Amino acid sequence: MRVILLGAPGAGKGTISTLLVEQYGIVQISTGDILRNEVKKGSTVGKEAAGYMNRGALVPDQVIMECIRERLKEPDCAKGFILDGFPRTKAQADALKALLAGMGLVLDAVVNLEAPEDVLLRRLTSRRTCSNTACQAIFNIYTKPPRVEGKCDVCGSAIVQRDDETEAVIQARLSTYREKTAPLIDYYAKDPVFFAVPCLDAKECFAQIGARLKK
Ligand code: AMP
Repeated sequence: MRVILLGAPGAGKGTISTLLVEQYGIVQISTGDILRNEVKKGSTVGKEAAGYMNRGALVPDQVIMECIRERLKEPDCAKGFILDGFPRTKAQADALKALLAGMGLVLDAVVNLEAPEDVLLRRLTSRRTCSNTACQAIFNIYTKPPRVEGKCDVCGSAIVQRDDETEAVIQARLSTYREKTAPLIDYYAKDPVFFAVPCLDAKECFAQIGARLKK
């Protein structure tokens, strides 16, 4: 199964991806996670990406496409994948279309996760992420606090607030989303595999996606 998850920052793409991974045994490909790993490693890609990420801007399309091209070649993608946070521009969507066609692959679903802006803001400012790059479990200080304060339930590493989750950067990310990524809803709207789902409660949202995927 091959799925694109669209949605604003904080819409729930990471949470829904985790549930889809468990249910369908497919891999999550988050360009945000790939870039954060590159930043942590101090690679050339990471050094180029960090500046854009820390001010809530998008990393250039060609850098992203290079990451995706390499990632989709990995054998673990054979069973299927969830694209989380990609594509984020029309140029990326066009490049993805060509890439998938070249690989003989089709998409099973393009899902737009919907949540009102006050919900997005609350989720983003209350989110905490495991600092262990191999884990990156997500917590929320209100709705999903860790069992031990400041420590990841899964691996015990420290949980932290991401550099790009300060109020000012969050506002910049939301405005980048509105300008560059929201137009992708129209881009995919006529595709028969496109559908939109409200994402206020993760379990309910996941159930609705599951019901659509079975059709
Ligand atoms: P995310 O965790 O998906 O919100 O991504 C964090 C940051 O990584 C974004 O604010 C962008 O700076 C960058 N990023 C992630 N995915 C993309 C993408 N597909 N295109 C451009 N920049 C991206």
